[in-house]
Amino acid sequence: MTESEIRTKLWIAGEWVDSASGSTFAVHNPATNELLAEVQEGRSEDIDRAVGAARAALASAEWRDINPHDRSRLLWKLADLIEENADELATLETRDNGKPYFESRRVDLPSVVENFRYFAGMADKVHGSTIPVAGPFLNYTLREPVGVVGCIIPWNFPLPQAAWKVAPALACGNTVVLKPAEQTPLTALRLGELATEAGFPAGVLNVVPGFGETAGAELVRHPGVDAIAFTGSTPVGKIVMREAAETLKKVSLELGGKSPNVVFADADLKAAVRGASTGIFYGKGEVCAAGSRVLVERSAYEGFVEALAARAEQMTVGDPMEKTTRLGAIVSEEQLDRVMSYVEAGKSEGAKLVKGGDRVTVDGKGNFMTATVFADVDAGMKIAQEEIFGPVAAVIPFEDVDDAIAKANDTIYGLAAGVWTRDIGKAHRFAHEVQAGTVWVNTYNQYDSASPFGGYKQSGFSRDLGYGAALDKYTQTKSVWVAVDG
Ligand code: ADP
Repeated sequence: MTESEIRTKLWIAGEWVDSASGSTFAVHNPATNELLAEVQEGRSEDIDRAVGAARAALASAEWRDINPHDRSRLLWKLADLIEENADELATLETRDNGKPYFESRRVDLPSVVENFRYFAGMADKVHGSTIPVAGPFLNYTLREPVGVVGCIIPWNFPLPQAAWKVAPALACGNTVVLKPAEQTPLTALRLGELATEAGFPAGVLNVVPGFGETAGAELVRHPGVDAIAFTGSTPVGKIVMREAAETLKKVSLELGGKSPNVVFADADLKAAVRGASTGIFYGKGEVCAAGSRVLVERSAYEGFVEALAARAEQMTVGDPMEKTTRLGAIVSEEQLDRVMSYVEAGKSEGAKLVKGGDRVTVDGKGNFMTATVFADVDAGMKIAQEEIFGPVAAVIPFEDVDDAIAKANDTIYGLAAGVWTRDIGKAHRFAHEVQAGTVWVNTYNQYDSASPFGGYKQSGFSRDLGYGAALDKYTQTKSVWVAVDG
């Protein structure tokens, strides 16, 4: 793909348009820090224009009265187009985000296609119920679209995150204004264009790149937006919730995490080491559900730390387009600085750096670091409490089941958790007592469009994925009473 083929304008009402101010922002390839594109910067006026287009599409007979089977076909067609353009989209994603190409092409893209197909299947199954009530009445409910949904997404899984929100929102008959992260707007723009090519009416999906404090904040404040579906950091989630209160928007928040990956001594330890390694190093650790706290039972602790360090050593840092690369480029220089500041904090607070912790370059360029393992981490240390969002594991010992559960829950977050044991009773007890929206038993990082994903505590509320969660999030219920005593 040549630079001139990269889409850099705003996608509003089925057309490429320049931003009202004419200003642009630079998007860099984190593997080289070279300029990838100058993208039109959406601001208040542009958000207003996109919301106008989404409102008009919502009211149009073409979308409002569409036969649900046709809505389903449109989503399926969009999935087909994503599949046909998967090489291009994966290349764009890797160049924009820095993740290894095999992750974009073999993991992200197939999951995005599957996501659109799953929600294509939902589109003609959005229905209410008939409810027995007292008196001579027929009572039934309608599941109606919420309206215009503002989707705000982060930079770690740009296309999958867009799909997680856009697919169910459209399946339920809403229209969307999507604001991708300023670091990674490119695949979202292409998605907007493909939706129109699939046959979605103009204005049903609009894509406006821009900065959080301007474009994102404006979307949250705009009175023409009925709901905000947000994925991002916990501090920004709090701002979004406060700002959305003014117009009482329906808000859903999928936020940060400090997820525990708990290994009992009776586990298949080889599998647990592999699971702990993917849990924290997959996606450069820029994963909200990353298993960043690896809790290991004392009797297995020492050997486990050694084995995890050996796996960290195998996480080859390299050009994200190379097949052998396992750890791509950290998304930006700023993010790399942040992650490295946590490495320094770990050292100065007295944790033992057993592997990695180095900032490196590839061919003299880019934002790279080595896979990092800290041992002898105390639960109170910064690296055990704060979300790092990088390939840094904090390995913490525990004594028994009670201690494991207490330590697992010793966090403001509650996004996900893993547990490794051959004792089924222990596994279920952990699954019941851990405060997390997802629990993986003898596995980690499993996702499926059919299974809800989201947080407890300060990891947010509401869920992405899954039929029931989508119905809650992207529809509103109308109760209809009909007198039948006539
Ligand atoms: P991250 O740490 O992943 O960058 P952020 O929460 O900062 O997470 O960003 C996630 C998304 O939220 C991005 O699209 C960003 O532009 C947007 N965002 C940031 N600040 C705000 C804000 N004040 N209002 C709305 N959206 C915002």
